[in-house]
Amino acid sequence: MNNTTKRAYFLYVFIIAFLVGIGFMFYSFYTHGEEWASMTANRHLYSNGQILNAGSIYDRNGERLAYSENGQRSYHGSETVRKAFLHSIGDTSGFIATGVQTVYGNQLSGYDFVNGVYNLKKFGRGNDVTLTLDAKVCKVAYEAMGGRKGTVAVYNYKTGEIICMVSTPSFDPLNKPTDIDSNSAYEGVYINRFFTGVYTPGSTFKTVTAICAIQNIPDLDSRRFNCTGSYNAGTGIVKCNGVHGVLDFEEGFNNSCNCVFAELAIELGTAKMTQTANQLGFNVKDNMGETPISKSSFNVSKASPSDLGWAGIGQYTTLANPCHMLTLMGAIANGGTAIKPYYINCITTPAGVSTPIGTTTKSETITLDSAIANRMVDYMRSNVVNKYGDSTFKNLQMCGKTGTAQVDNGDPHSWFVGFSMNPETPYAVVCVAENSGYGLDVAGTISNTVMQAVCFPK
Ligand SMILES: [Zn+2]
Repeated sequence: MNNTTKRAYFLYVFIIAFLVGIGFMFYSFYTHGEEWASMTANRHLYSNGQILNAGSIYDRNGERLAYSENGQRSYHGSETVRKAFLHSIGDTSGFIATGVQTVYGNQLSGYDFVNGVYNLKKFGRGNDVTLTLDAKVCKVAYEAMGGRKGTVAVYNYKTGEIICMVSTPSFDPLNKPTDIDSNSAYEGVYINRFFTGVYTPGSTFKTVTAICAIQNIPDLDSRRFNCTGSYNAGTGIVKCNGVHGVLDFEEGFNNSCNCVFAELAIELGTAKMTQTANQLGFNVKDNMGETPISKSSFNVSKASPSDLGWAGIGQYTTLANPCHMLTLMGAIANGGTAIKPYYINCITTPAGVSTPIGTTTKSETITLDSAIANRMVDYMRSNVVNKYGDSTFKNLQMCGKTGTAQVDNGDPHSWFVGFSMNPETPYAVVCVAENSGYGLDVAGTISNTVMQAVCFPK
């Protein structure tokens, strides 16, 4: 090798090393750029760990819920609205991991891959986010929860738009309580119970056992059951909430008779009950955009007959997530087709260009035959007409199921799941009020209040 070729050789090596280096830099920028730009240490966007110059957040009617002004993050003028939106918007410090300000922090702060923090520098602020939620309805819902812990949500089962999503306890992001970490009233305050909560479902799970029975017992409607106040499963007793005597399946569902549903679950067996629960989204991971939804679980692999009876009435180890139960109600209401709920409508740049985020999408986690869904509509409508009272859910043509879920610590969880079957008001509702007693009295009343606000706005 002469000197000239040697020099050329080294030059090639240097050029290759340089290109590899540049390539690695671009790769890192591409994979970590968003992280770097929005790191809390970055003074352009944050100060003292607080998000400052982010864009605004609006409700579905253009009401401004959060904004930045003079280097401060601020929120809606009503304290109740601020509390009602704490879990959907998030706090200023990012403690609420599932809030828009945390999950969509990059978009709100105006970061984009090509221009970095271009939007922020050019316009002095980031992008805006518009939610599908209604501030008036969420305020009504927060007040209706009446200081109880739990969640209430309503979504349009045709489009997937969530109109109301409230999780309690909450706090005012402009006035965070000083005893938040020591006062039990704020237990679990940073989680959105709608996304992350899992609860013993109690009798709301009878909708699942009912679907399994419709799928597997052809003469279900001509069957007769006899409730003596308890069902003896051999390995143990399943107690009923009353002594219902001889009744058919529909009457058993109306009265939420534990004897009828324990008998059915045991007769159907672990394999069929598990198959139906899985088809309906139990034991399946799901998410809403960037946000994971806690998994509902149904596991009777080690259950004795009486355990299976208890599982069939929503007790034993069965757990349900409120977002999942709402989607299941949507599937029943919508002729078997489950539409995924979403609550972020679009992101709009300071130049006015909007990108839709949530769209109407079919859920992949729930499979339900349309004929079975329609039969369930009839049974759930019958619950309201024959048991809960149609006047309890005035003008809604409501279909529903209550739950009074026994728990180890304290009073039962009060549940209501249901929907309006009126095509003019295609909304489904879920409410869980922790340790609050009888399902219809508490969760049923809250559900009606919120559904009235959604379907008949004043
Ligand atoms: Zn009974």
